[in-house]
Amino acid sequence: MTAQGTTLVSKAKMDPAPTGRRYPKHNQATGFRTEPLTLVLMLVEHRAAPGAGIGLARWAEAQRDAILQQIWMGTCPPGFDNPDRANHSRRMKILIVGAGPTGLTAAVELARRGIVPEIIDRKEEASTLSRAVGVLPRSLRTLTPSGVAERLLAEGVKMRNVHLYFDEKHTLELSLRNGHPDRDFGLALAQDRTEAALRDAFIRLGGRVGYGTELVGIRQEHDKVLATATGGAERTYDFVIGADGIRSVVREAVGIAFPGRDLPGNWSIADVDAENWRHPADFTACNLEGGRVAVVAPLAATRFRVISNTDDALKTLPLELNVKNVRRQGQFNISIRLVRTYRSGRVFLAGDAAHCHSPAGGRGMNLGIADAAELADRLVTDRLDGYSASRHADGKATIAASEQARRLITSTGFMRRLLSTGAGLLNRLPPLHRPFARDFLQS
Ligand SMILES: Cc1cc2nc3c(=O)[nH]c(=O)nc-3n(C[C@H](O)[C@H](O)[C@H](O)COP(=O)(O)OP(=O)(O)OC[C@H]3O[C@@H](n4cnc5c(N)ncnc54)[C@H](O)[C@@H]3O)c2cc1C
Repeated sequence: MTAQGTTLVSKAKMDPAPTGRRYPKHNQATGFRTEPLTLVLMLVEHRAAPGAGIGLARWAEAQRDAILQQIWMGTCPPGFDNPDRANHSRRMKILIVGAGPTGLTAAVELARRGIVPEIIDRKEEASTLSRAVGVLPRSLRTLTPSGVAERLLAEGVKMRNVHLYFDEKHTLELSLRNGHPDRDFGLALAQDRTEAALRDAFIRLGGRVGYGTELVGIRQEHDKVLATATGGAERTYDFVIGADGIRSVVREAVGIAFPGRDLPGNWSIADVDAENWRHPADFTACNLEGGRVAVVAPLAATRFRVISNTDDALKTLPLELNVKNVRRQGQFNISIRLVRTYRSGRVFLAGDAAHCHSPAGGRGMNLGIADAAELADRLVTDRLDGYSASRHADGKATIAASEQARRLITSTGFMRRLLSTGAGLLNRLPPLHRPFARDFLQS
């Protein structure tokens, strides 16, 4: 394998934190007294001139767990007051297969807590595909400690309203404002920008993405996983995370079923530069006769994404969009599937490798980010047993919500008339917008 294998000391076996008189005030999560370090960081930040000092303090804060762990390993005799402590020196090796948003989130979340994993991707270089547009508030919360959310917020467009059209008739302007300024918007940002922010954070934390490295095989022994990549020898890991997308090789190699169905027909997508779009910073959805639908989301001030459940998104859009340049156009198909289990022994699945559904509701990438963050946390805190059940429940609920959104927005006949009337009523009753906004933002 060409991926760089950086392995740091794991603290997966460190919890629960020891108790006893020697550690009167230790931190529950790490077993360390973090208050003095936090205080020092606050002072540095306070006294620093704007710029470098603050950056250093933020970096140190992000590295805090790793630094504390290194101090602990350097100063405490093995097995000091807890037999499990003897295991702390164990070096955990984790391989993440797939450097999409899911794999990169797992990499960042592990690295900022002291375990720098290997991550490989069969692509020769970073993706330039902007599939997912919507970053939901819960993903931003997840990505705040690493500093990634800050960059996404700086680059993305905050969508504060949803517009619903029936044919060309503007029927509803749903306000997403809910009294919580940190979660009263959906952030629109091309997926490749989200991935770039995650990748840069991982590199800052000491990691490296091994592009051009394809996993071809995996086998497990009772205490290890053996993985092989094209042209490489078999290598040994403590755990492998399959974040390798919908056609996951990891999932197939460990024999996890991926039941579900494929939806008939094509969907289409177009990324365009356009001027004078009527809702440049909002999300727009148009329902047309025959269950056809076209949606528009901003990618930047004059760049937009159009998606439709027809062969040609731009032709289907019933509203005027003054297109200056088509950056990318294509078609895709949709499957609705969920794995039976997210785990086989020491191999875990996350993201599209475990679930897929329609883009209605913009949930897929956000669900993958949530899988990855929970898995990283469970690896660090040695609580792996609940991972599959917890993520399966979230996956099932998300697929149900996404299917409900898809059926609503593509409804025909009586249901369409009902939806149109309901949307018109809701438009006149702004105080009732909140629950719908919460649903849209999953907040
Ligand atoms: C048109 C469209 C619009 C969408 N819009 C949204 C949206 O608005 N919001 C949202 O949340 N989601 C959206 N999604 C879904 C979102 O794009 C996916 O859910 C997301 O990309 C999943 O991320 P992932 O990291 O799990 O998988 P992927 O992004 O598929 O990444 C998997 C990675 O694994 C690599 N890989 C595969 N096999 C191997 C191997 N054998 N060895 C090494 N590497 C391998 C691949 O090269 C790839 O880089 C949309 C999807 C589509 C198609």
